Amino acid sequence: TLKMAKSSFEYVKKFELDDTLLPNSWIVVRLDGKCFHKFSDDHKFSKPNDLRALKLMNYAAFNVLRDFNDLLMAFGQSDEYSFIFKKTTTLYKRRAAKLLTTINSKFSSSYVFYWSKFFGDVPLKYPPTFDGRIVLYPSDENLIDYMKWRQADVHINNLYNTTFWTLVLKGNLSPSQAEKRLCGTVSADKNEILFQEFQINYNNELEIFKRGTLLVRKTIPHNNVDKHNNVIVDTHDDMLKDRFWSEHKSLLLNKCKEPIVYNGPVTDI
Ligand code: ATP
Ligand code: ATP
Ligand code: MG
Ligand code: MG
Ligand code: MG
Ligand code: MG
Repeated sequence: TLKMAKSSFEYVKKFELDDTLLPNSWIVVRLDGKCFHKFSDDHKFSKPNDLRALKLMNYAAFNVLRDFNDLLMAFGQSDEYSFIFKKTTTLYKRRAAKLLTTINSKFSSSYVFYWSKFFGDVPLKYPPTFDGRIVLYPSDENLIDYMKWRQADVHINNLYNTTFWTLVLKGNLSPSQAEKRLCGTVSADKNEILFQEFQINYNNELEIFKRGTLLVRKTIPHNNVDKHNNVIVDTHDDMLKDRFWSEHKSLLLNKCKEPIVYNGPVTDI
């Protein structure tokens, strides 16, 4: 009978291994676009920074935060996004594969679903792919250092890319000449090239380019009523400063149990 057949096959379920994540530790999910060097060429992203692409990334991440209340914040830059769960989350019983795949899936499908909201008539030529990983951090200090690490990465890459593309687009160097020119230079040298040769003050570049985007939850007063709305806002603060973390202690607290009220797009978009 069907019932007997079922029980004789059911043993295969036991091949599924336990992937429960350690309790009481920070769960960080980081996604990264696969071959986005090519994807950005194929879709003619402006170099070094395509604002439409960054805003689409932010919007896709915003959709993830809207769906997963146990996410405290998210940080994005270039083709990557990191999502931070509250330490005590019991979502999917902390099963790693469930957490990673649902976050990645919601992010990836949102990226495609909202493509035209940011790229208008520019066609999406093929479905993009994102890889994903989970990293656990046991202490607040480790998590803060993780956030600092990702933001320091934005700074290093953006200063390099800004100088590289300025040399190519405005200085008429070939890409390999620009690469040679930058070989062995430190930050101060790159700032100097931009300022002396192209009258560009790197400090005046957009914050979203220099610092990436931190999505956080905020409670804001509802229009002249005695009510509050929970919203998700995008910020571009300097997380490398310890002051940021002392002034934003609440970021690491388990809060926002209420559902998020969608209050228009992420500010700034
Ligand atoms: P991998 O599959 O190993 O991640 P990748 O080509 O995606 O390979 P990354 O190191 O992730 O390599 O770099 C992403 C690349 O995508 C950047 O170097 C840049 O060329 C491009 N890119 C991503 N976002 C933007 C953007 N907003 N504007 C312009 N280019 C972008
Ligand atoms: P979970 O998130 O736990 O997977 P679920 O609602 O997706 O919850 P499943 O056990 O995966 O539950 O079952 C998928 C359900 O989706 C089916 O029970 C059915 O109701 C619906 N469904 C999926 N595919 C079809 C289909 N082709 N036609 C009609 N209904 C479908
Ligand atoms: Mg990668
Ligand atoms: Mg990539
Ligand atoms: Mg990347
Ligand atoms: Mg299902």
